[in-house]
Amino acid sequence: GDAGVPGRVRVAVRLRPRNAEEMIADADFADCVELQPELKRLKLRKNNWESETYEFDEVLTEFASQKRVYEVVAKPVVEFAVYLLDAASSSSHALNVSTLRHNPFLSVLEGYNGTVMAYGQTGTGKTFTLGRLGEEDTAARGIMVRAMEDILGDTSPETDPVSVSYLQDLLVPANDNIAIVEDPKTGDVSLPGVTSVELRDQKSFMELLRLGEAHRFAANTKLNTESSRSHAILIVHVKRSVKGRHDADQSFHGENGTSSTMVTSFRPPIVRKSKLVVVDLAGSERIDKSGSEGHTLEEAKSINLSLSALGKCINALAENSPHVPVRDSKLTRLLRDSFGGSARTSLVVTIGPSPRHRGETSSTIMFGQRAM
Ligand code: ADP
Ligand code: MG
Repeated sequence: GDAGVPGRVRVAVRLRPRNAEEMIADADFADCVELQPELKRLKLRKNNWESETYEFDEVLTEFASQKRVYEVVAKPVVEFAVYLLDAASSSSHALNVSTLRHNPFLSVLEGYNGTVMAYGQTGTGKTFTLGRLGEEDTAARGIMVRAMEDILGDTSPETDPVSVSYLQDLLVPANDNIAIVEDPKTGDVSLPGVTSVELRDQKSFMELLRLGEAHRFAANTKLNTESSRSHAILIVHVKRSVKGRHDADQSFHGENGTSSTMVTSFRPPIVRKSKLVVVDLAGSERIDKSGSEGHTLEEAKSINLSLSALGKCINALAENSPHVPVRDSKLTRLLRDSFGGSARTSLVVTIGPSPRHRGETSSTIMFGQRAM
C-alpha cells in the first residue's frame, strides 16, 4: 500500500534476531526467512531448495534500529508533512509552522486520524516495537514514546491540548461495560467509560505507560496468563486550534502601494481534532486448548474473532472496498473512525527467524500481504 494515498494500508515486516535459546537449539538450521531490504523483499523458505518471495512497503531486518522503524512505520502517520517539506524546500530555513499547517498531506498533526498496529506471534517483538519505554537507553524507545515526543514537540499545551487513554482489557468479559459509542452524524467513535488524561509533558506520558505496563503485568500474573494474549491500545487525542488561519496575516496592497494587515480577531479559532491509535495486538498464534494459557474458551474465541475481523477490515481497505465490515468485533468497532476516509493506517508485522515457527511466520506474512 501507498502511505500517501488515504485508505491504503502501509505494511512493513520486521524480523527479530534469534534469541539465545534459538541460537543454541537451532544452530544447525537456517532461518526460515531471508530478507532483501533494498528490494523490499522477503523470502520464506519452503525447503532447502525452494522459497517463496513476498514484497512489502518496508522490510526491516534484525539490524534495523528503533529509530529507523519509527521513521518508516509511524512517522508518515504522525507527521508526514515534515518529510515532504524537507525534500521540497531548497532553502532549509523557510520551514515554519504556518507552512506546515497548510500542507495538504494527511497526518495526525495535520488533523487526520491515524493508526499504527503491530501483528504477529507472541515473542516476535510487537511490544518491543511499539511499547518500549527506553528510559535507561533512549535509542531503545519504541513507537509510542517516539510518537508522543513528536506530538508534544509540535503542540503547545495552552492552545493544542493532547490527551491520552491506555486500554488493555477491551476483550476481558468483565469489561463488557466498556461502551463504544459512535456519533451518528460524524461517525466519530468515543469511549465514555474510559479515562483520558490530558498531558502536558513527556514525563507524565512515561509515567502513564509505566503504570499501564505494571497493571498489565499484575493482571496477568494474577490470572497466570501470557501478557500478550490481550490487545494494548493507546489512543492519543490531538486538538489543534488554528486561530485566524485563513483570514489573519493577510496582506493587502492598497492602490497607493501601501500595504496593511487585516486581522480578523473576532473569528473563532478553527479547531481540528484528530487521533492516533497505536495497537499492540494480542499474539496471533491460535490457541486451541482452552485454558491452556489461563484463558477461558470465551476469551480465546473473542481474541481470535477480533484478529480475524481486523484482517477482514484491512483487506477491505486494501481492496478499496466501500464496505469495511467494522461491526464484527469490539476491536474493529473501536477502530471504525480510524479506517478509510481520510484516515491512514500503518501495519507492522513482526516475525521470528526460527525454522520451528515457520508455520506461524508464514501466516503472519500472509496477513501482511492481504493488507497491501
Ligand atoms: P511480543 O510483544 O510480540 O510478544 P516482545 O516484544 O515481548 O514480543 O519480544 C519478545 C522478546 O524478544 C523480548 O525479550 C524482546 O526484548 C526481544 N526482541 C523482540 N524484538 C527484538 C529486536 N528487534 N531486537 C532485539 N530483541 C528483540
Ligand atoms: Mg507483547
